[in-house]
Amino acid sequence: MQARAELPNEACGLLAGKGEVAQKRYGMTNADASPEHFTFLPAEQFQVLRSARTEGLDIIANYHSHPVTPARPSEEDIRLAFDPNILYVIVSLADVVPVVKAYRIKFGVVEQELVEIY
Ligand SMILES: [Zn+2]
Repeated sequence: MQARAELPNEACGLLAGKGEVAQKRYGMTNADASPEHFTFLPAEQFQVLRSARTEGLDIIANYHSHPVTPARPSEEDIRLAFDPNILYVIVSLADVVPVVKAYRIKFGVVEQELVEIY
């Protein structure tokens, strides 16, 4: 699991798919290499966008892990959530069993969305 492999730092990446169904996960480098925040590498992000487009997929979510805090967007997560059209997925490793939650964040307003993981 990427989120565990990258401890103590946050792991991050993008999910690509059709409509609301994610079909492909792109694990990405956390350029911040930090336990408290993450930044995509612009070149890597560009490559992922291009590769998803080549496969006819859209980027439908970005995800990152919270190594020791709950699966809730931090103030910084909300501030940096620029895209109201994608889901923001957070994987928390604060408990023994990882918790995954998804949010839509529109202009600072956070709404949790139900997700099925399979
Ligand atoms: Zn966060």
